[in-house]
Amino acid sequence: MRTPFHEWKPLLIPLLLTLHTSAWASQPFQEGLVTITLDDGWATQFTHARPALNARGIKATYGLITRALEQGWGGYMTTAQALTLVTEGNGIASHTLTHPDLTTLSPQDLSSELQDSQAWLMSTLNLPSVPDLIVPYGRYDATVLAAVKQHYASSRTVNAGRNFRDTVVYELYGNDVARGVPVGLVREWIDRAIAEKSWLVLVFHEFVDGTPTRDTEYRTSDFAAILDHIQTRGVRTVTLAQGLALTDGRTEPDPSTGTTVYEDGLTNGFADWSWADHALDEAGTVHAGSSAIRFEPDGWSGLLFHHSGVDLSRYSAIELWVHGGTQGGQQIRVVLHDGTDYLGTMRVDTAPGGPIIAGVWHKVTLSLDEMGATSGTLRDLYFQDDTGGDQPVMYLDDIVLVPR
Ligand SMILES: [Zn+2]
Repeated sequence: MRTPFHEWKPLLIPLLLTLHTSAWASQPFQEGLVTITLDDGWATQFTHARPALNARGIKATYGLITRALEQGWGGYMTTAQALTLVTEGNGIASHTLTHPDLTTLSPQDLSSELQDSQAWLMSTLNLPSVPDLIVPYGRYDATVLAAVKQHYASSRTVNAGRNFRDTVVYELYGNDVARGVPVGLVREWIDRAIAEKSWLVLVFHEFVDGTPTRDTEYRTSDFAAILDHIQTRGVRTVTLAQGLALTDGRTEPDPSTGTTVYEDGLTNGFADWSWADHALDEAGTVHAGSSAIRFEPDGWSGLLFHHSGVDLSRYSAIELWVHGGTQGGQQIRVVLHDGTDYLGTMRVDTAPGGPIIAGVWHKVTLSLDEMGATSGTLRDLYFQDDTGGDQPVMYLDDIVLVPR
């Protein structure tokens, strides 16, 4: 769950716009776009969110867990209510049969979760097609992506960020509006989408009239205030499918721009297998965007980002931004592993851009040539304590595999 926004600093925004425009694939749309997505099919989406949306003429996209409807799970909307949403012109996406972590499934179960949920929605809700998936928990890897591509034309994640015309449609960014996200921050996101002509996809779950008690709950009056801001600014709202139709439909990342491992969350199929004390949603000390990685390197512990397989021969280096926290001087080792053997290793703090300094962000470049890691399949990328001792908290952000 994400509640990383309490220390967000509005003054950073103009700087971040510049950084992101240069660093990201970012072909603007003709105008800013906003999509409301509602995940899981909670009953309060129908009883609380739908009236607020209908009162303003805004269509949304509902990501439905099909067994919840089929079997009448408590707290979820009914099939009749879902049919009403369709009749009223809203979008429907599949959110799988049972909402599992798709990265943990057998090939048969993975296929069933994707295919059978889609088939059920088409037949039960009388839809000619259901081309869009919303990924449960935002959890996916290359195996999941490959399966998704067999059945769907797009999938939406909960990787925070904004979409552009050339964003990969199988990794659409979605900003999770969890309990701790203030209305003012969402207004800023909307204003930024208008200014840069990007596509902001907002993610909501449950709605309550009183004080939210779960991270997935949001106050209905705050939701209405967000919709009011959308109306006041006159920004165009689209369903997921309508927004996708305005993109270039890019299905693979551009190899010339490198492969991002971490931006405001892990991306491009990297999964968090870290065993160190860490957080991927650090909001107080951030290089760019909304989040960074907080890492306390103690007792040989490490960050571990797992992937189903990256061909290292395409890349020349790993670039990342590091911040030494309040003390600096951390001794950290990067390790590249293919699941069986080591592909290469070097110290981060002695690489170009090191040492790791207190109080500032600086860019470190880890050369794959210097590590001797010019070929092979990267499956495990470690950043590990190299002392065995007790080192102070540090931060990492914007980790990218740089193409050859
Ligand atoms: Zn969900």
